[in-house]
Amino acid sequence: MPKFVLDGKEIEFEQGQTIIQAAKKNGITIPHFCWHESLSVSGNCRVCLVEIEKMPKLSIACATLAADGMVVYSASDKALSARNAVMEFELINHPLDCPICDEAGECKLQDYAYSHGAGESRFNEEKTHKDKRVPLGPLVMFDGDRCISCSRCIRFCDEIAKEPQLTFVKRGDRVTIVTYPGKQLDNPYSMNVTDICPVGALTSRDFRFKARVWELSKTKSVCNGCSRGCNINLEVRNNKVLRLTPRQNDEVNSFWMCDHGRVNTYKFINDENRVDGPYLRRGGTLVRSGWDEAFAAASSELKSYSKNEIAFIGSPYATCEDNYALTKFASSIIGTKHIDFMRHVDQTFGDNLLRKDDITPNSLGAEIVGVVPGKGGLNLEGIIKGIKDGNIKALYLIEDDLVEGNHELQEVFAKLDLFITHSTNFNKTTELADFVFPASTYAEKNGTIVNFEGRLQRLRPAVATFDVDRALEGMSLSRWDKFGTKFDSWAEGNKHDVRSTWRIIVGLSGAMGHKLKYGVAEEVFWDIAKNVSSFSGLDYGKVGELGAKLKLELNTKTVTA
Ligand code: SF4
Ligand code: SF4
Repeated sequence: MPKFVLDGKEIEFEQGQTIIQAAKKNGITIPHFCWHESLSVSGNCRVCLVEIEKMPKLSIACATLAADGMVVYSASDKALSARNAVMEFELINHPLDCPICDEAGECKLQDYAYSHGAGESRFNEEKTHKDKRVPLGPLVMFDGDRCISCSRCIRFCDEIAKEPQLTFVKRGDRVTIVTYPGKQLDNPYSMNVTDICPVGALTSRDFRFKARVWELSKTKSVCNGCSRGCNINLEVRNNKVLRLTPRQNDEVNSFWMCDHGRVNTYKFINDENRVDGPYLRRGGTLVRSGWDEAFAAASSELKSYSKNEIAFIGSPYATCEDNYALTKFASSIIGTKHIDFMRHVDQTFGDNLLRKDDITPNSLGAEIVGVVPGKGGLNLEGIIKGIKDGNIKALYLIEDDLVEGNHELQEVFAKLDLFITHSTNFNKTTELADFVFPASTYAEKNGTIVNFEGRLQRLRPAVATFDVDRALEGMSLSRWDKFGTKFDSWAEGNKHDVRSTWRIIVGLSGAMGHKLKYGVAEEVFWDIAKNVSSFSGLDYGKVGELGAKLKLELNTKTVTA
């Protein structure tokens, strides 16, 4: 492999790689604003200037190909003084409004001003002023004063979203970003420009002024907005999820996520209408009860039906652990084979970048872990017909508001003698239920989901709940230990009395006289790994931060978009 020397260190590279690419591959970051590894090279910010032996002038590392035997200095006196000059130039007209800028704390300009700036300004003239608070589209706000004209946002729209919507106008120090005439920044991926804008010129209208970024805890998770399963960070303050940001995973979503996933999939977690404890129906009204009381009542109701009168509906929104526990409960404790789940497909949602028509995160996982009718059992259609005909009298449904927008199902479910559901929020379905158990959202539990191409990925709790055993649930232990007391005190009053669906099922099984021996989510996972061949040999450690591809050898109908 060819090699070159960077700051005294020998570096291997592949033919065709630029100096900045080869350095990054070897864990060395050369300062940059306009360069982004997923975008074309524009070479306009000049902050990556490096000195190369035998070259008469400094070169930009983002556009100079590495060559065998080359000797490069990124921190020589010449390189540092050039970077210093570039920083002085970038800051001449900058408003220096970090105290009120959303980007502060994650701003490249701020970071480089500390590490490479002169520390003072020699510019005494009036700064140029540009438009501030310009809504470029429904979700992105532009502050012209802060823009350093790196063109990342323009290139993102042109090259990744494939919807040219932004451009530069004017010249020199008056140059600024605008949308093309008659257009706005409204492509389905528009908010990614707020992540890649290296300064606070482009900010999220959904998140602006909600928190300083250093106040947010970040938990690695997966978007639940469709079956792509984009990797994300759940960003939380005071026990409320305040924003989702994409997390790089080259196998799934590269650096990106869609706007729908970013703004529409977390608000229900903070919503006022969360189911805040177990509820049971008394005299026609749902009333709050204790856990033991609800388990005992639900168990005695379930025992009054024969196994063939009871059906189960799993959920493509619930984790593999939740769905698996449901299948165990249905088959081993109730003894019914009537079990299925509903797929939710929106043929207008998918595209060629990330979004998939299957708008649920785990339909493939639900199917793999066995939420399918047993031999001779009823599928979803059969269950609905069975309820209509009066053969199915009791229904157990987890984490899916099937009634919303479905008048026919509303009428069908109203015929049930017993309807038990687990739900994160009160909704049309809970209105019909006799028992409502409060389910943790994907941001409040450990678990796994399987994306449309069979990649198993981890969810981790980011929001505190009264699910006390959760502190034991695997990966978040160190975080809970570290922040335990402080976290509890500021989460106090905001915590919901909810449980992971699998844990609710463990409680109900106990009330029915059967012990499901799961204490933490990973124990459910181990059971799946023992009994479901696609999961064989896996554990949470092996799934890791970026997921693991499953060997799909079953009769799975692949869920495609
Ligand atoms: S708005 Fe941000 S990303 Fe776009 S050119 Fe200006 S600094 Fe670069
Ligand atoms: S593409 Fe799907 S998984 Fe990715 S962010 Fe959008 S909704 Fe979420």
